[in-house]
Amino acid sequence: MLQEFCNKKYGKAICDCSNEEIYVALLEMTKELAKGKESNEGKKKVYYISAEFLIGKLLSNNLINLGIFGDIKKELEENGKSIYDIEEIEPEPSLGNGGLGRLAACFIDSMASLGLNGDGIGLNYHLGLFKQVFADRKQKETPNPWIENDSWLTKTDITYDIQFGDCTVKSRLYDIDVTGYENRTNKLHLFDVESVDETIVKGDSINFDKEDIAKNLTLFLYPDDSDDAGLLLRIYQQYFMVSNGARLILAEAKAKGSNLHDLYDYATIQINDTHPSMVIPELIRLLTAEGISQDEAIEIVSKTCAYTNHTILAEALEKWPMSFLEKVVPQLVPIIKVLDEKIRAKFDDESVYIIDDTNRVHMAHMDIHYGYSVNGVAYLHTEILKNSELNNFYKIYPEKFNNKTNGITFRRWLLHCNEGLAEYIESLIGPGFKKDATELKKLEQFLDNGEVLDKLFEIKKANKVIFKDYIKATQNIDIDENSIFDIQVKRLHEYKRQQMNVLYVIYKYLEIKKGNKPTTPITVIFGAKAAPAYVIAKDIIHTILCLQEIINKDPEVSQYLKVVMVENYCVSKAAKLIPACDISEQISLASKEASGTGNMKFMLNGAVTLGTMDGANVEIADLVGQDNIYTFGESSEEVIEHYAKGDYVSNDYYTKDAMIKELVDFIVSPEMFKVGDEEMLTRLHKELIVKDWFMTLLDIKDYIKTKEVALKDYEDKRAWSRKALVNIANAGFFSSDRTIEDYNRDIWKLS
Ligand SMILES: *Cc1c(COP(=O)(O)O)cnc(C)c1O
Repeated sequence: MLQEFCNKKYGKAICDCSNEEIYVALLEMTKELAKGKESNEGKKKVYYISAEFLIGKLLSNNLINLGIFGDIKKELEENGKSIYDIEEIEPEPSLGNGGLGRLAACFIDSMASLGLNGDGIGLNYHLGLFKQVFADRKQKETPNPWIENDSWLTKTDITYDIQFGDCTVKSRLYDIDVTGYENRTNKLHLFDVESVDETIVKGDSINFDKEDIAKNLTLFLYPDDSDDAGLLLRIYQQYFMVSNGARLILAEAKAKGSNLHDLYDYATIQINDTHPSMVIPELIRLLTAEGISQDEAIEIVSKTCAYTNHTILAEALEKWPMSFLEKVVPQLVPIIKVLDEKIRAKFDDESVYIIDDTNRVHMAHMDIHYGYSVNGVAYLHTEILKNSELNNFYKIYPEKFNNKTNGITFRRWLLHCNEGLAEYIESLIGPGFKKDATELKKLEQFLDNGEVLDKLFEIKKANKVIFKDYIKATQNIDIDENSIFDIQVKRLHEYKRQQMNVLYVIYKYLEIKKGNKPTTPITVIFGAKAAPAYVIAKDIIHTILCLQEIINKDPEVSQYLKVVMVENYCVSKAAKLIPACDISEQISLASKEASGTGNMKFMLNGAVTLGTMDGANVEIADLVGQDNIYTFGESSEEVIEHYAKGDYVSNDYYTKDAMIKELVDFIVSPEMFKVGDEEMLTRLHKELIVKDWFMTLLDIKDYIKTKEVALKDYEDKRAWSRKALVNIANAGFFSSDRTIEDYNRDIWKLS
């Protein structure tokens, strides 16, 4: 099949083509095949609108979804080529930051795989989030250009003039095919400005003129917003995204026969977090421009939009100063004021107003009042929204609130990233689990089958060897595949508590120094990007890199303990790390992680979770039972009470417990100062003692104790493998196909 294509395109045999040529041929071939499956069937369409789509590389996934991965792999092999080498050529777009963006990518995959009429809408950031490099044991941010002459993007004829308060820019729509697994092809619509100019970014920095909107609008995702110009740029980006999206939605609805009075029969818009919230006033504006009265337009939009909340961290719920909106989107200001007045007329409760007494606009409040559905992303998260965080809204609109526990696409996070495991599962229970993930439950018949448990252990070890070779080749770090791989990879944030894992590493280092050596060596692996302006997060990365230096170079300790900080954690690195993991670190402060999806990927790949009862960990624990997960730490209720009473004082834990003091003080020890930056280490040390907003020291002792139990349990290989198998067998619930079926049944209602 590929040979024919290469003949046509290059006039030569596959074996005579370079890997680059083969990559481009596969790209074109895949696009052609995907085109054949495009469909516009279904009266109503769901538009998933999101500032992030962390799609990862697409080649292999598209081949899997089109059902030709195996054939292509074989054809390449027969010609002395490897699909894995070809994969390496594809650049990974960094159009997302973390879980929220990855969720959007899993969702559009599942929508297409279930045959739903549903597209994504977002922005075409040329330089992505940023690419992380380590220099002097510190994070440095560099641009991540990913758009090449041959890419997954297809330029369309669709352009709009988008008007801001002080300028007008011309947009252009680019599409990426979203191939469903043995199903239809949908679209990811990415809008761009025609006048974007990558050359205004200087050198390998991420600095540029933040005020030159026509040139900078689609350069970066989440440009630095530590000054007003940066904040304004985010509003420009958000409006650009939703104004383009709204016009596309109206045009498509009209083309299908809508008179716009019935828009909600043709379109439903899922607002992914608050970044796209301005779609509500923008749609109202566009509908009134079509001659519909403002009151009716508000009604129509309220029946069209649904909102997903992703966090209870107050700083992440966007509140834009009215003066900023007046500058960037003056046309929306009168509409937002009307929306607020209607609420003020109805409710005598300041906490639910859209415009607060400091004249800031609460985007989430607008979504909740003027959307028809509000959902959280895991059971616990939704309960917290209903009962505390958004309780005043829940009392007004109990019927709007619903839970949709997140999920992950099993095509990418099992079939593609862990072929060895997927093939073995198929040999045990047949191929049905690929379409219906709940069939994994059939694996439970093998729970006491020693041969199966040993084979699982072997597959895990093979994946560890692959990662060992990879980290040697990319970062020149030597690790041992016979050690326990203990992995924490996710965005760097204090609530996720990488700093607690750091204290564990220090604990283990000091223990080994004292002569308490573990039976099986441990490899503690981190991977995380820190937001460029998040100082403490960057201090934590620096601390990890210093520990990596000290511990891995210590001839005595390094036989038993290694530390690895993976550079530029991204989807492709996740796909290499997750299949190799024994212990999945999910240690956020209870109540703070809305769901997590990394936890699900690890579970599916046979890692055992070490975590707090937070986010979807609660549901994982429910599914696998207490024997197959390690939980620790104070509960979400207890934590919420600490915040309410303000009674957590980290310094008390530090001064009253000699062991805690020893661990924390190591951060500012002479050993650390020898390799690290005194200012950064001292700042983190102080933060832990005088502030510790996310209560590291509250749970550290229970964490260490529980981790030691897990490490000891690992010594019984079969018992450990049994835990892994229970996890795999019960992961079916976390397929994003299930999540999307839930969204469709309860919110979108597409036929
Ligand atoms: C899944 C994923 C995440 C989300 O991880 P959490 O542990 O849920 O925060 C972030 N980044 C990448 C690259 C991922 O694949």
